[in-house]
Amino acid sequence: MDKRDCIFCKVVRGEMDAEVVQDEDEVLAFKDIRGLAPVHVLIIPKQHVSSLEEITQLPETVARRLFEVSCEVAEKLGVRERGYVVRVNNGPDAGQGVFHLHLHVLGGKTLEMP
Ligand code: AMP
Ligand code: ZN
Repeated sequence: MDKRDCIFCKVVRGEMDAEVVQDEDEVLAFKDIRGLAPVHVLIIPKQHVSSLEEITQLPETVARRLFEVSCEVAEKLGVRERGYVVRVNNGPDAGQGVFHLHLHVLGGKTLEMP
């Protein structure tokens, strides 16, 4: 997919509105437009990579930062103590809908597998 058409790249470029929770040089966190839990935030690398298979294209510090920001967002939004889910939907069986790697941070209610 061309990153010009990628909706999360559009969010990064400011061409699409988003409720930003944390904005860093390499990583952006913003609220999911269709929140499935009281806290539902997406953490993305600003560099376009489409899936987990391409995570090797990211600098290691950025790959690590995605997880660190997940924790920081959980703290910021008050769900760190009770817990939260960090989830990647990767590929068709997982129902991946946006092909720009993102971590979902879900919290504020009891969440079960899967
Ligand atoms: P998935 O690819 O299955 O992990 O899900 C993509 C997620 O992106 C869904 O939960 C959507 O609600 C969310 N989403 C799609 N477009 C936007 C947008 N413009 N701003 C915020 N969240 C979005
Ligand atoms: Zn993208």
